[in-house]
Order: sequence, then C-alpha cells, then structure tokens
Amino acid sequence: MNKQSPVSQDYNQPQSGNEMPRFGGHATLFRLPIQDTAADLDVALLGIPLDGGTSNRSGARFGPRQIRSESVLVRPYSMAVGAAPFDSFQIADIGDIAINPYNLLKAVDEIEAFIDKVLACGAKPVSMGGDHTVTLPILRAVAKKYGPVAVVHIDAHSDINDTQFGEKIAHGTVFRRAIEEGLIEASKMVQIGLRATGYTADDFDWSRQQGVRVVTAEECWYKSLTPLMAEVRETIGTDIPVYLTFDIDGLDPSVAPGTGTPEPAGLSSSQALEIIRGCFGLNLVGCDLVEVSPPYDPSGNTALLAANLIFEMLCSLPGCKRR
Ligand code: MN
Ligand code: MN
Repeated sequence: MNKQSPVSQDYNQPQSGNEMPRFGGHATLFRLPIQDTAADLDVALLGIPLDGGTSNRSGARFGPRQIRSESVLVRPYSMAVGAAPFDSFQIADIGDIAINPYNLLKAVDEIEAFIDKVLACGAKPVSMGGDHTVTLPILRAVAKKYGPVAVVHIDAHSDINDTQFGEKIAHGTVFRRAIEEGLIEASKMVQIGLRATGYTADDFDWSRQQGVRVVTAEECWYKSLTPLMAEVRETIGTDIPVYLTFDIDGLDPSVAPGTGTPEPAGLSSSQALEIIRGCFGLNLVGCDLVEVSPPYDPSGNTALLAANLIFEMLCSLPGCKRR
C-alpha cells in the first residue's frame, strides 16, 4: 500500500496528497500504513492515550488521535536538513496501547509490556502521549534492553517530585523514579526548558545533585540552541543509547497552548527544531512526544506542531539518509 516514491520501492511511504486529498482517507500518523505489531519495522509509531497521571488539566488521552489527524499536513522530506526518513527506515503506525483507563498502575505495566514487544521485534518506539507518566514504563523497557540510557528531556518541569498527592507514579515523578531505578545514566542526561514557579527555591536541584545538566528556559531565551546541542552531543558521546523525551509544555504557550500544565515564557518552535535536529549523531533508541491535550488546542496548532516534531525525531534517528 502507498509504495509510490521514486526513491524507494522497499519502504512504506506516506500516502500522497495527490493520491487522496489530505483531508480524506485514514488518519494514521503521517498517512503511513497501519500494522498490528512492530514485526519487520525499523521504527514503530504508536499512541499511548493515558492521562490519569496529570496533576491539573486532563485531555492528553486525546493526544494520539489529534496528532494523527494534524499529521496529514506533514510531507515526506525535511527541506531544511535534506532528511528522508521514509526512504531510510521501514515505519508504520501500530496504533494505540489499550491502557486500562481506571487503573494507572496497571496502565503503566501494560505500557512496559507493550514496549517490551516492540523492542523484541528490533523496532525503535516513537510514541505519542498521553501524559508524561508514559515515559517511565517506556524507560523501564528500554533499560531492560540497553542498560541505563542517556536522556534528552525537554520540559517546562523537571518531573522529579518524590510523590504527588502521596503517589509515587504520576506525571511529575517520572525522572525521580527513572533515576532511582537506574534506568538513566544521570551524568548523560540534560533537561532543557525548565522554568516557572515551584514549591521551593531548590526544586531543580535534585536533578543537579544526580549529575543531570539543567538548562533553564531563561538560559535559552533570545538565542539559538544549536551550540547547546553541540555540547550535549559532546557530553553524551556516540556509544551510549539515548532516549529523547519531549514534553510539549517545554514550548511557550503561544505556540503550544494545548497542554495540561502550561507555563509562560518557554521555548520557541524553532528552538524545538534546533534541539531535535541537534540530536542527529546521537545513538537514539527511542523518542516520545507527550502532554498534548486537544481540548485546550482549539486551533489544532499544538497537535500540528507535535506531528512536525515527531517527524523531526524520525529525521534525527541514526542512519537517516540525508541529501
Ligand atoms: Mn513533563
Ligand atoms: Mn511539563
């Protein structure tokens, strides 16, 4: 189905806007074919419609569906970097994880089991949230396969609370748990975009104490993040597996209003591209884009931006062909 590219006859290709109008057809991610499992894929695109871990506005459960819908406008080539992910990898949309919406802890286990299977197929998971809770079970599965990973984390929040409302598992505790569980090589983790109000003045310090590099939003204001990413690549190196997790609230609410815990004065969309493009050269083994909440995104712009950022992640995977 849809194998129409003059460049590659071997890989799944997005359905062209000249074959079926962009507003028609099946709303799969990037108009790619659907597959039930990750078998024979290099990259498995999947949704995790979970928002039971949110602390404020809900709605991220609708994220995967809306990102798929807006992704119809994403075309197969990155004009800026010349990347051609659909000529480089076999990619399909393998649908959503059937999480239990009534039991967060069960849902977390279901996500881990699902990602285990994706990884067992040899595919890289590129996931759409869902709230940020989903990243903990993904990292559990990824670390089982690869050992502790380096992490590039974009977010307004550090997500290192010990508990939220007394609970150990929530969208604001993910990286505390992941570091405690040894899933992350903390000296090779960077958090970018942290900002806004906290509960105490040292809210971001637990990360720093673990060896994580914290880059606040203020440190990013008014400048290109390309030099920062050169430093990040230098720190992480090319050997260690790297996981990229992108909380859409790292961006400014003017460009990404559709999210549950928006914070003013965040990153720009061009800085987001610089960060993701700056991951090319790292040994990326998986990525996610989380916290898109369509009920707060009446224009669809947040989901459209999210779809484009996920496309950029594909362009930054190791082995992606460039012109
Ligand atoms: Mn987060
Ligand atoms: Mn956040």
